[in-house]
Amino acid sequence: MRKGFPAAAQDALGDAQLRRNLLVATHAIRAKRLAAVGERPDWEELREAGRTIKRRVLRHLDAYLIQFEQAVERAGGHVHWARDGEEACRVVQGLVTATGQHEVVKVKSLTTDEIQLNETLAAAGIDVLETDLAELICQLAGEESSHILVPAIHKNRIEIRDLFRRELALPHLSEEPRELAEAARLHLRERFLRARVAISGANFAVAETGTICIVESEGNGRFCTTLPDTLITILGIEKLVPTPEDLEVLLQLLPRSSTGERMNPYTSLWTGVTPGDGPREFHVVLLDAGRTDVLADEVGRQALACIRCSACLNVCPVYTRTGGHAYESVYPGPIGAILTPQLQGPGRADSLPYASSLCGACYEVCPVKIDIPEVLVHLRGRIVAEAPPWRAERAAMSALAWVFGSERRLGRAQRLGRLVGRPFVRRGRIRQLPGLRAWTDTRDLRPVASQTFREWWASR
Ligand code: SF4
Repeated sequence: MRKGFPAAAQDALGDAQLRRNLLVATHAIRAKRLAAVGERPDWEELREAGRTIKRRVLRHLDAYLIQFEQAVERAGGHVHWARDGEEACRVVQGLVTATGQHEVVKVKSLTTDEIQLNETLAAAGIDVLETDLAELICQLAGEESSHILVPAIHKNRIEIRDLFRRELALPHLSEEPRELAEAARLHLRERFLRARVAISGANFAVAETGTICIVESEGNGRFCTTLPDTLITILGIEKLVPTPEDLEVLLQLLPRSSTGERMNPYTSLWTGVTPGDGPREFHVVLLDAGRTDVLADEVGRQALACIRCSACLNVCPVYTRTGGHAYESVYPGPIGAILTPQLQGPGRADSLPYASSLCGACYEVCPVKIDIPEVLVHLRGRIVAEAPPWRAERAAMSALAWVFGSERRLGRAQRLGRLVGRPFVRRGRIRQLPGLRAWTDTRDLRPVASQTFREWWASR
């Protein structure tokens, strides 16, 4: 059951440990990013190149998708098109069932979280094991991820130690990172060797060659994409890049922006199937799920250029205090505030575009120069415009437009406002106004002046 951002954020803000964990983690990543970006005197040119590539993809997405499909099939892979999450889950379930397997390993994929693939497969009796360490932590804890790059950012070492002690039956485990990593490694290794089917997401897909690229820090993804017989990759249609040369630009932008590293520890690229090497069967599921609707919005479509680096989360004064769960979406933070409402459509996540101070820090760090504040304001306008005429904000704006439309009406409204507001004035401020509590709960109003400028002017 969704609470909406204001209520969910209120709960998160009440958790002091969560706020401490977030503060420590986001500040550490921010400092690393700043240092890594500072090493590149051409950083702004690189950003501009990234922006140009992603915008070109969005402008010609139809052609690039067909080019990608043909390249994958030429290389021995199979492409499936999915209009929505339900269709994508059905396709994946059918592919896994056809192998006769009842367990799969999965490498980090926000797209599969978006369509709730694990839940669908579990209902069909297929066990999915998350293999990214942070995703595994969330899976064992039965929690959603709370950060794009560091899904378990809301947990500290002690909390993870307690979780592993409980769930992996390791009562004497310490909170030393090396011991925690070793416990996860042993837990995963046996499943990697056993799994015959793997599911992956994709950071990028190259239209010209049909190549898929995933970047990760642990190497677990590489186990997933090389050991099993069948590999199924799910990607949103916006993940394409035109050529390998374009990929090169984005692979310079991504690690510096996300983990503050010069290059990513594990970058895996594969194209179709190769006899005697890696999976024998390769499927790609291309997911729309609202993306073509986003593409139709000339301002909002820039959200599809996101390369999921998470830099905007780490600098956001809202995210760094509330954490990701308050967004009630697999895409939290500033990018979630503009992507989720557009993917889900009107009325589903309308509070998210307001989860921002519009300070602009997200735009300054975005490696592909998505103007998040511009989209936030655009979406707020759309939400108000699409609301039914009787909704408070829309009704108030229509009434104000009518009042401001005539000098006489404005003068009368000011006199009326003075009279109506007078009983609520305390020490020169209106602190509570019935009917406008959503506004006055967090702000004071100034009373209407005892003499307006027009009255002062008329008096002389
Ligand atoms: S919007 Fe920009 S900064 Fe935020 S995750 Fe996407 S690419 Fe990174």
